[in-house]
Amino acid sequence: MDLTLLTASALASGIKKREYSAREVAQAFLDRIKKTEPAVQSFITVTGERALEKAAKVDERLGRGEDMPELAGVPIALKDNICTEGVRTTCASKMLRDFIPNYSATVAQHLEKAGLIMLGKLNMDEFAMGSTCENSAFQTTKNPFDTSRVPGGSSGGSAACVAAHEAPLSLGSDTGGSIRIPASFCGVYGLKPTYGAVSRYGLVAFASSLDQIGPFARSAADIRALFSVINRRDPRDMTSLDESLFKRADSSGWVIGLPEEYFGDGIDGEVRDAVLKAAKTFEKMGHRVRPVRLALSEYALPVYYILSSAEASSNLACFDGVRYGYRAPEYDGLFDMYCRTRSEGFGSEVQRRILLGTYVLSAGFYDAYYKKAQKARAQIMAEYAAVFDEADVLLTPVSPQTAFRFGERTADPVKMYMTDICTVSVNIAGVPALSAPCGRDSRGLPIGMQLIGRRLSDYGLIDMAERFERHTGVMDTMTPAV
Ligand code: GLN
Repeated sequence: MDLTLLTASALASGIKKREYSAREVAQAFLDRIKKTEPAVQSFITVTGERALEKAAKVDERLGRGEDMPELAGVPIALKDNICTEGVRTTCASKMLRDFIPNYSATVAQHLEKAGLIMLGKLNMDEFAMGSTCENSAFQTTKNPFDTSRVPGGSSGGSAACVAAHEAPLSLGSDTGGSIRIPASFCGVYGLKPTYGAVSRYGLVAFASSLDQIGPFARSAADIRALFSVINRRDPRDMTSLDESLFKRADSSGWVIGLPEEYFGDGIDGEVRDAVLKAAKTFEKMGHRVRPVRLALSEYALPVYYILSSAEASSNLACFDGVRYGYRAPEYDGLFDMYCRTRSEGFGSEVQRRILLGTYVLSAGFYDAYYKKAQKARAQIMAEYAAVFDEADVLLTPVSPQTAFRFGERTADPVKMYMTDICTVSVNIAGVPALSAPCGRDSRGLPIGMQLIGRRLSDYGLIDMAERFERHTGVMDTMTPAV
């Protein structure tokens, strides 16, 4: 039996029944990684030995008849902006190339307690800025469905490794679409949880008011199982919410809103058709579908890029060559050291965001840009609150098109930013959204649909995707080329 074909839930139950050991499972995925990594390149660091040791410990405890958590022994990999004690955490940046944290992020601690086995750390756009993974300072992750195409970003490694069966589960982070876009490009599930559902402690911050860590998996049930491990209040993150607020939900009979702004010009015809076909399927499954309006959608992208860059410019100020991380080898005095360290340590996209963010926060432009964007954010949040009086969930595309070729958008940053047009308003509003596979285009590339819910409705979205998966058998068609 090829263990790497199984879902996390199936693996967990096999391990509990002692049909195979956690160590055998870890070994199977490490073998798979060895085979597929030359083509996919989703890992920055593989922690093979550590994984086998931890897996052996789980087997020991099971052997003693201990009652283990639901996902005990199941492998997982983490985006490389989530701090892991003793394991290099690079943010795919030269700035942190050799950074080994002396503490683990809260999520990593939860995984450890739940007996999950970390296989390694995953490639991403540098400091999570990008939509294709092309901004990594180290390597180019390939889309497992077509290695001449991007996996999406910024959590491209997290999506590609799950799609390529290198791990059954992974974690990514989403500030403006970075979980959902790669999930849709790679034919897997990716959840951007409600803001506050998951602790950000130990996540290297990009834009703190928008960042959320979330799960990737190849089944909706696996997303639920992993989300329930990391959905915990954390006293070390003041914005985190009590898990009792998140109720398991039944989505049957939910009214689905189709925001017309998400189906207009600029959305590829095949993507639009696939999502509208999914809407028809949901109707057959007993849902009611109705058109809704999100008239402020056109402002979401500028608001997002102003606010996220402003926050990034402040968050990334700590990388100055003094405290930790890269320091330029040669400089002339303190100011020159800062200057050279940051010019050499950061890639061009990160520098662009810092410059943009500093500009919109500077005296004279603060009112015109930053403050205005904050006001617009409040209006977008209000619009979202109102639309959920008309519908329980919104159904939209995740991205205007399926995975594109390397280099297609790197020359024009604004063209790249347009990739996020369907995803950023969700982070602005702080609501949850799930990217779920709904079909493949004529080239065989996966198409994702986005289910957007009210705050705290994360489990309802997962339930809805699970019913769709069962009804359509869509995951049976998501076989990668690698
Ligand atoms: N593509 C968006 C950006 O570059 C989103 C990134 C993210 O969600 N981390 O800002």
